[in-house]
Amino acid sequence: MTPPKCTICKAKGTNFPVQVLLPSYNLKLCRGHFLEWLEGRVEDTIRHFRMFTKRDRILVAVSGGKDSLGLWFLLHRLGYDADGLYIDLGIPEYSSQSRRYAQDLAERIQRTLYVVSLSEELAPIGDMKQWSRKPACSLCGTVKRYYMNRVAREKGYTVLATGHNLDDEVAVLWNNVLQWNMEYLARQYPVLPAEGPFLKKVKPLCRISEKESALYTIFNGISYIKPECPYSVNASSLENKKFLQQLEEARPGTKITFYTGFLRELAPLLQEKTRETTELTLCRVCGEPTTTEVCSVCQLKQKMGRI
Ligand code: SF4
Ligand code: ZN
Ligand code: ZN
Repeated sequence: MTPPKCTICKAKGTNFPVQVLLPSYNLKLCRGHFLEWLEGRVEDTIRHFRMFTKRDRILVAVSGGKDSLGLWFLLHRLGYDADGLYIDLGIPEYSSQSRRYAQDLAERIQRTLYVVSLSEELAPIGDMKQWSRKPACSLCGTVKRYYMNRVAREKGYTVLATGHNLDDEVAVLWNNVLQWNMEYLARQYPVLPAEGPFLKKVKPLCRISEKESALYTIFNGISYIKPECPYSVNASSLENKKFLQQLEEARPGTKITFYTGFLRELAPLLQEKTRETTELTLCRVCGEPTTTEVCSVCQLKQKMGRI
């Protein structure tokens, strides 16, 4: 049997071995054309959603995982002005390893990496239950949002980028649809515009699947943390991802069609209907944006006796 030919090589008259099968797009690609295809697709997403331009200063939230490191590398390669921010959650082994991967990439591409240590600012994420009844992931979301926005604003960045991929977005979308959570659905968009002191937030990998993102990172020789965060045992999101993967395997393209259909057909209607009504004010202690008099992070610090 003759081996399959790369779809793009065939058109261009070259002949490199196929390394990636993308049934959702009916493509079989060699390594080089896969990298080109993925970068083009992200560039197209950035332009389509008007995420940023080469004049912007971008801060990428890097976790040490494949998506955020791959995104940072890709933006740098495409000529964007992008630095990184790593938030060290103080999880034994997991945090020190992922921090090292983020630092390795920063050195390789010669860009600045800011590091915020939760243990120094508040306490390791695992110890926070002493001061809050919220689950670790909910606290983690709060502190990450807080420090991402704060560091980006203080250092003069104009956009915050995160490495959420298509599988992440589809799993969240599916969950929000199952519960008809209209408020969350209205905010599920790859671009959230700047709102007063909140910076613009973007997800340039929203049309790149988890597998595509992992291959991009591996093909570029970037080391990343493989084990999941030990707190990620969120049964419903894992079950959703498993279910959606079964649908995808039965009908390739299901995920991208579901997600882009939502963005095109429903998201604009929901955004129109549920215009933001929350009043933002500035935290009386730290000056960061909040909906209460004292922001959640300062409330935590107060409980810990740190302020
Ligand atoms: Fe944070 Fe939870 Fe994600 Fe771990 S799994 S990084 S604790 S949100
Ligand atoms: Zn090729
Ligand atoms: Zn505050």
